[in-house]
Amino acid sequence: MFQFTHIDGYHKALKSGTTTCEAAVNHYLECIQANQHLNAFTEVYESEALVTARALDNRRNNEEKTGRLHGVVIAIKDVICYKGHKVTAASGILKDFTSLYTATALQYLIDEEAIIIGSCNCDEFAMGSSNESSVYGPVKNALDESRVPGGSSGGSAVAVQAGMCMYSLGSDTGGSVRQPADFCGIIGFKPSYGSISRYGLVAYASSFDQIGIFGKHLNDVRLLWEIMSLPDDKDSTMNHLPPKQTPSSPAKKKLAIFAEALNHPGLDEEIKISLENFIEKLRAAGHTITEIPFRLFDYIVPSYYVLTTAEASSNLSRYDGIRFGKAEEEKEDLALFYSKNRSAGFGTEVKRRIMLGCFVLSTGYYDAYFAKAQQIRQLIVSQMAEILHEYDGVILPVSPATAFKFGEKSDPVSAYLADIYTVLANLAGLPAIALPMFSHSNNMPYGVQVMSKRGDEVTLLETSEVLLAVSAG
Ligand code: GLN
Repeated sequence: MFQFTHIDGYHKALKSGTTTCEAAVNHYLECIQANQHLNAFTEVYESEALVTARALDNRRNNEEKTGRLHGVVIAIKDVICYKGHKVTAASGILKDFTSLYTATALQYLIDEEAIIIGSCNCDEFAMGSSNESSVYGPVKNALDESRVPGGSSGGSAVAVQAGMCMYSLGSDTGGSVRQPADFCGIIGFKPSYGSISRYGLVAYASSFDQIGIFGKHLNDVRLLWEIMSLPDDKDSTMNHLPPKQTPSSPAKKKLAIFAEALNHPGLDEEIKISLENFIEKLRAAGHTITEIPFRLFDYIVPSYYVLTTAEASSNLSRYDGIRFGKAEEEKEDLALFYSKNRSAGFGTEVKRRIMLGCFVLSTGYYDAYFAKAQQIRQLIVSQMAEILHEYDGVILPVSPATAFKFGEKSDPVSAYLADIYTVLANLAGLPAIALPMFSHSNNMPYGVQVMSKRGDEVTLLETSEVLLAVSAG
């Protein structure tokens, strides 16, 4: 029986001949088959993955130098373009659309000999927190099938959670990697804005979107990030700096926690207590944790939803049923033709956000909403930069509660408010990670979120290692 713990161990087993890439792929295909009811995949590249695996096995047996991700089995969210494969963003409007090119980040993984096993279900256009707004239907949490896996990258999270691949990619505009990772009990890492090329990532809100990684092993997550964070001329918003290799920061960490985050009325009492106990444990281990105020806390969610819906309304205007998606029967009137295509192609949540975005950008409301939200974003960016100049990181919960039941958050405002802890990192472009640590009395997992200075993933990942060790100790 094939077993996977981390890439290093897998590579050793390949080298010693105790396993093959083909055996790995067969194992994951069987697991995907056995877990079909979880609805995590929108498409499985079965024969293609097997062909790649056999080719890699042959090449390795011929003693050729192997790539850093040789035979590593990876699933991708259905918003990442892969040439010749369908990319639909779980939307009716992109039904049967085939990618014309491959996303740079994905190409970097393939260049290191990763095997791409399939694409994963998600909320339509990555808008949501429960994976309930997919045209393919919801994804189920493998730990409790009456509960959501989180979203929007719910399929990618469950693919790793239930062992249907080794690693997976998601996208994180406001928490879509960290929150589902938290709900599923795995690691979810969102690098800084501009750290990984967005070329080939279906756009939701372009100044927030970032590709992120799901996995169970921190060092491997770091390796995938290092590989994907190479420069790309096709994305002008990338930080063209090499990944910052700060010399190992001091073993004792200096961390901040926001009083408003810990004392937030929506925070589950058990999560709050675990976090407080964990802080005490960190202090006992010699780390400094300081509670500080963050006065902009109440403005985080409103400014996120004003800005992202504005950007989404612009980004999604390209889906007109002509260049993308299925056209409705309407030949007489052009405006009606667009309207029919878009009405039939988009789901409720996406329509809501397009309308909200158009509203906040419209004459008369622009200054009151969009311009104000931009000003708040700027304040958040500078305050976070000041704080992170002084501290190695800020720790926060990931979500105010554990994975909820299907249908429980059908009111959009309550769903939006639950993004309180994750959207901050996207507003400020900071790297942030969800680390699994605890189990709730309802048996669902949850953990701790850490964020660091923009561009300083190395400090973030080093700090994460320390936190995981303290939590396990
Ligand atoms: N839940 C957030 C939203 O609905 C985050 C989505 C995301 O990160 N893609 O916008």
